[in-house]
Amino acid sequence: MDRICEDLLKLIGEKERVVPGDRIEEKYLSDTLGRLKGKAQALVFAESAEEVSRVMKYAYENGIAVTPRGAGTNLVGSTVPQKGGVILDVSRMNRILEIDEETFTATVEPGIVLQDFQQYVESIGLFYPPDPGEKTATIGGNIATNAGGMRAVKYGVTRDYVRGLEVVLPDGEITWVGSKNVKDASGLQLKQLFIGSEGTLCVITKCILRLIPKPDASLSVLVPYEDLNSAIRGVHAIIKANANPTAIEFVERSVVELGEKYTGLSFPCPEAKAYILLTFDGLQQQVEQNAGRVQKVAQTTGALSFIPLTDPAAAADVWKVRGCLVKAVEAVSEQEPVDLVVPISKSAEFVAFVHQVEAETGMQMVAFGHAGDGNVHLCIVRGDRDDETWNRELACVMRTVYGKAYELGGLTSGEHGIGIAKRPYFLENTPAVNLALMRAVKDAIDPKHILNDHISYLK
Ligand SMILES: Cc1cc2nc3c(=O)[nH]c(=O)nc-3n(C[C@H](O)[C@H](O)[C@H](O)COP(=O)(O)OP(=O)(O)OC[C@H]3O[C@@H](n4cnc5c(N)ncnc54)[C@H](O)[C@@H]3O)c2cc1C
Repeated sequence: MDRICEDLLKLIGEKERVVPGDRIEEKYLSDTLGRLKGKAQALVFAESAEEVSRVMKYAYENGIAVTPRGAGTNLVGSTVPQKGGVILDVSRMNRILEIDEETFTATVEPGIVLQDFQQYVESIGLFYPPDPGEKTATIGGNIATNAGGMRAVKYGVTRDYVRGLEVVLPDGEITWVGSKNVKDASGLQLKQLFIGSEGTLCVITKCILRLIPKPDASLSVLVPYEDLNSAIRGVHAIIKANANPTAIEFVERSVVELGEKYTGLSFPCPEAKAYILLTFDGLQQQVEQNAGRVQKVAQTTGALSFIPLTDPAAAADVWKVRGCLVKAVEAVSEQEPVDLVVPISKSAEFVAFVHQVEAETGMQMVAFGHAGDGNVHLCIVRGDRDDETWNRELACVMRTVYGKAYELGGLTSGEHGIGIAKRPYFLENTPAVNLALMRAVKDAIDPKHILNDHISYLK
């Protein structure tokens, strides 16, 4: 056992929770895609804020890199420990500490898994709206990446449900930012800085989350169109009609077919070329009224049909096909996921451009996404390219699609973050002065650059 492990063992006290570098399982050295691999001297499973604090203090004093980790489901290499040091896994800190029904808040540890938390609060009549596609991620990871997901169009993103955070700073100091209070105009909002900081500024050790009453009813509706352009026009009309959908997803038929193959399930109306999939929630009457508004929009925007998924099993099947798309692509080939965002009015133009690039280059690109917020997910499919060809052609295609997104006023990431994988594109599109400010914040909070410094746009 090397010196770092021996020292960490003294701090943690249990051999089973300090894994030496040569015994760390591969998955801890990567993200969910497993392509980028790092190295570490030790993997520590922390069980309390005090333990996190002890590890951070030790790392700070000795200038050792630290990579915080939840469930490791990120898609951008942010948990790849490129600088060695310690992987600090907080997934065992997974308790619900308090449900405060008087303030509509829950206080949880960061390692609680999203789907476990959602199920628990719903079982007591409450609701936690953020709903990113990967339900096995941790709440701490969701906060560190400011995860969005399907329901963002109505309810907002993770940031909108974080009231307060207990964090451990790089030097080991424990502090709170935010609180149970609804409003806060009390000084600079450090909490907002930590949310979405991808573990580069602090380790989150407790989270006060905002809850809302569970909606009484919900209904999903599928609106098939003969092309994506008409479908995206439909999205604009739906938002304008004040139909208040919880989710508006777009998906093309060719992509649905991948999902159907992967799940063995079928989507209704297979003759369509594109679909808008919506959910409504709230009081039963509101849900019906809002769905009715969309039915009218469907008629005036040339939809092929309007299919209310009133049977919960049928709705679950359609959402299962939509939800499996990343995994369905991966079952066929390695892929590079892209989650750029463009103004909602530009989604159709952007996807049309992607198809043009596909036709010109022969590189398959599977596009789907959150139509209500212009968040386009692309899976760039490797197929049978050898390493050299794949790396060369991928770099070329990535530059082309990011270039177009930026030209349309878009941004590098809508919800997955920058990590290692999206660094070059982020650097290209971010004003130098903004980068300098971000680096100044990093220097102020983590002067020795020990926390996730591999996410190196902050260097
Ligand atoms: C199939 C699939 C579908 C997805 N769909 C969506 C989607 O629809 N919308 C969306 O927004 N995202 C989506 N994602 C991304 C997903 O939201 C993130 O992977 C998730 O939020 C990361 O949580 P995690 O616990 O796995 O964190 P990890 O992957 O372990 O870590 C992610 C980042 O957070 C940091 N971190 C983790 N825990 C802490 C902590 N306690 N304190 C400080 N830093 C920490 C890590 O260092 C790392 O930088 C999807 C991912 C997959 C694989």
